[in-house]
Amino acid sequence: MKSRENFLLSVVVPCFNEAEVIGETHRRLFSLISKNIEKFEIIFIDDGSTDETLEKLEAIADKNGNIKILALSRNFGHQIAITAGIDAAIGDAVVVIDADLQDPPEVIPEMIDAWKRGADVVYGVRASRDGETSFKVATAKFFYRVIGALSEIKIPYDTGDFRLMDRRVVEALKKMPERDRFIRGMISWVGYQQEPVFYNREKRYAGETKYPINKMLKFAIDGILSFSTKPLQIATLIGISISFLSFVGIVYALILRLFGEGWVPGWTLLFIAVSFLGGIQLIFLGLIGEYIGRIYGEGKKRPLYFLKKSK
Ligand code: UDP
Ligand code: MG
Repeated sequence: MKSRENFLLSVVVPCFNEAEVIGETHRRLFSLISKNIEKFEIIFIDDGSTDETLEKLEAIADKNGNIKILALSRNFGHQIAITAGIDAAIGDAVVVIDADLQDPPEVIPEMIDAWKRGADVVYGVRASRDGETSFKVATAKFFYRVIGALSEIKIPYDTGDFRLMDRRVVEALKKMPERDRFIRGMISWVGYQQEPVFYNREKRYAGETKYPINKMLKFAIDGILSFSTKPLQIATLIGISISFLSFVGIVYALILRLFGEGWVPGWTLLFIAVSFLGGIQLIFLGLIGEYIGRIYGEGKKRPLYFLKKSK
């Protein structure tokens, strides 16, 4: 293991329309890190913002040698923005942190201590969440439990992308070119020594969440489908159960016909059974389609992002 004493720290900050917060984020992050760490770089990624985020970032970088700016050619999404930042980072340890100060920068020194003691990944666990709607907290909780039940690897509950990674974890991540990226799961999958650090998730400093419900949903589906083929097995199991049920129905109808006084009555039952089955089949067809769509996406082998500016 390389010495973790005289190290370079990279901090990766994805930003999408964060003009309102970026100045304050830079001030807080910079003063904390320059106080605690000798060698560092802070990489801000502009994820195709439509406000003044990029101009503000460039002004900050012009005044400061430790700041790097990457601008993506359009909005690619949080996970891709993080990927671009990680690709560009040269540090021995790389920290990913949100731009809105919901992840307190003050936790970073704690992460570094854990890393120096031997952890390869130090992930932030949200011990509490101030200033988030109870809807978001409840759906997030539900989502992590569903992923936990479905996926073959353990993804720690209530974590975001706020974490520190050792260089060898970063190199491992770079070898994973998949498109539908659920980075917290990918990092968990990589292995090595992973440790939690608990923190209080604060209120967004300013502005609005960039994760509306549809993005959240897509993200959740990525999380499940990228790490599990269990939904497909569930389809098989349900198919087997329904076949068994209908076999029981056949035997029942035969007995009634041979030894009883007539036919099984009921168009209604027939109709319900047919539409029930039709529904189930379409749902699972759609599910298979989700997996195929992902294969199609991977098959095109497009690059994950393009940069329009880097400095
Ligand atoms: N973000 C991004 N691209 C996007 C959406 C979000 O880079 O398409 C960034 C955003 O600027 C922030 C982080 O990802 O730094 C987390 O987003 P946000 O705070 O809006 O999500 P929430 O904390 O509400 O889940
Ligand atoms: Mg946020």
